[in-house]
Amino acid sequence: MLIELRNICKTYQMGIMQVEAVCNVSLDVAEGELTAIMGPSGSGKSTLMNILGCLDRPTRGEYTLNGQRVANLDDDALAEIRNHTIGFVFQNYNLLPRTSAVENVEVPLVYGGVRNRRERAIEALDSVGLADRAHHKPSELSGGEQQRVAIARALVNRPSLILADEPTGNLDTKTGLEIIGIFQRLNLERGITVLYVTHDPETSDYTRRIIHLRDGRIESDEPVPEPLYAPNVPEELVPANAVTPAPSAGGVTA
Ligand code: ADP
Ligand code: MG
Repeated sequence: MLIELRNICKTYQMGIMQVEAVCNVSLDVAEGELTAIMGPSGSGKSTLMNILGCLDRPTRGEYTLNGQRVANLDDDALAEIRNHTIGFVFQNYNLLPRTSAVENVEVPLVYGGVRNRRERAIEALDSVGLADRAHHKPSELSGGEQQRVAIARALVNRPSLILADEPTGNLDTKTGLEIIGIFQRLNLERGITVLYVTHDPETSDYTRRIIHLRDGRIESDEPVPEPLYAPNVPEELVPANAVTPAPSAGGVTA
């Protein structure tokens, strides 16, 4: 099992109030899964993603990642795990503004002391179809392109897990679906485990499992019987019996 959560709680102290952002969450995610996390605003999605991503520690409970218990590790050990195992993608891309795409992608390699950084960064940009934008700054890129740079940055250390917190939240539907298609391709092609948060019920059907949170607890955890595949997923990767999505408005009609 890649991810094992047992009775995870996260409590925030707000003055004299205690906010239980995540409450008694137990969850297993196997290697190679593609899962959507949904739930209303304030239901604990980001808190859970930050714990999964080792960006934050639970108040209580056990988290085992790749067989390693992470709850009691110190900051350096957590940083090491983040750097080698996990790629994180945010709603706002979190790119350095005055820095080119390729230099943004190189950032995790700088921490890791990797030598052939430029080559690795270009390779990662190429895998999201952006090698030709390598020297553009974020302000010279569209939202979808900026998110692809962020995905390349998440990929550059060859993680086994990608966590994305509302990666399509700032994008229009079509662009958002392209981002989801990239996750689907990385999942099918490289076996990378992907968890992404989304508000959009249409986006969540492009996974094989949907977890709903409410008030910090898991409300439901269901398989998607007939997952959809985004148009930019290469045909040879799509399972033969897959359902093709209905053409969207403005698409081809009979
Ligand atoms: P979601 O991502 O589903 O919108 P969050 O995980 O951001 O939800 O928040 C869950 C709850 O925890 C909310 O009530 C939020 O206000 C609270 N919360 C989140 N982060 C903090 C924090 N750093 N300090 C205090 N309360 C927080
Ligand atoms: Mg959130």
